[in-house]
Amino acid sequence: MTAAVLSGRELAAAIRAETTAEAARLSAAGTAPTLAVVVATADESSAWYVRSIARAAEQVGIACDVVDLGQEATGPEIRRTLDALSADDRVHGIILQTPLPPGVDAQEMALAIRFDKDVDGANPLSLGRLAAGLPAFAPATAEAVVRILEHHGVELAGRHVAVVGRSTVVGKPAAHLLLDRNATVTVCHSRTRDLAAVTSAADVVVAAAGRIGLITADHVAPGAVVVDVGTNPTEDGELVGDVDAASVAEKAGALTPVPGGVGPVTTALLLAHTVQAASALRRA
Ligand code: NAD
Repeated sequence: MTAAVLSGRELAAAIRAETTAEAARLSAAGTAPTLAVVVATADESSAWYVRSIARAAEQVGIACDVVDLGQEATGPEIRRTLDALSADDRVHGIILQTPLPPGVDAQEMALAIRFDKDVDGANPLSLGRLAAGLPAFAPATAEAVVRILEHHGVELAGRHVAVVGRSTVVGKPAAHLLLDRNATVTVCHSRTRDLAAVTSAADVVVAAAGRIGLITADHVAPGAVVVDVGTNPTEDGELVGDVDAASVAEKAGALTPVPGGVGPVTTALLLAHTVQAASALRRA
């Protein structure tokens, strides 16, 4: 069997088209959707990511303000910046870019992001609301996992989904979103005994561990659907997933590619959340 490729590109394009139309409507009505990205690192891959977000935002008509506090920024400085952006009526979405300087805790800082501007679901209150089934922005990557499966018609209700990874950015929120779709969810992590036994009993495997080649053919049932969230830099500057695509594609029924799977949908959703926030704040 050769697995079907579950691309994220068409879905991302459709989300961007909707977002462009909504951003134009809001701008014409006097609210120019604006996303603020707070940076406190000199990390090169972070800088690359911020540039790509800024470019993508501009393409759909969202203004992107990058607030670079420098790698020496302290916790109180970062918190004050997030407080100020939360109170600024001109700003509708706020992202706190990681990594942060040593000793500064991302979740502690993210508590200062007003929850209705928390477009990447970084504030622990957003995760709590998500778990409780209350309206909140989910981290865009976690939402991208569910949206890509739905887009390709993968049934989730009643099916067993194994999520590999329990971070607050991907694994945990993805598990909540999948539960919301009535999937039966198992969350695996670095202390899970016999990962292959758990994942190969699942209909759908979501790999979000940040480990190159962790998921091999031995980890998937014949015909299973596999979502590869991993974006791991290699020594030659490429990005590869957590799934050993060559072996898994011979056994799985369907597989998301890296790049071109979860990644483009994540960026598109971040922008969609920003116009949703702008629209809701305008009505408030
Ligand atoms: P993280 O390091 O915060 O969490 C990794 C999780 O994987 C942990 O819960 C850990 O317990 C688990 N894990 C690690 N090794 C394991 C093993 N051998 N077996 C089982 N579980 C194991 O990482 P993260 O921020 O959640 O990111 C995960 C991956 O997703 C990374 O590759 C990251 O680059 C990628 N990512 C992609 C996007 C995107 O837009 N495509 C966005 C965010 C993260």
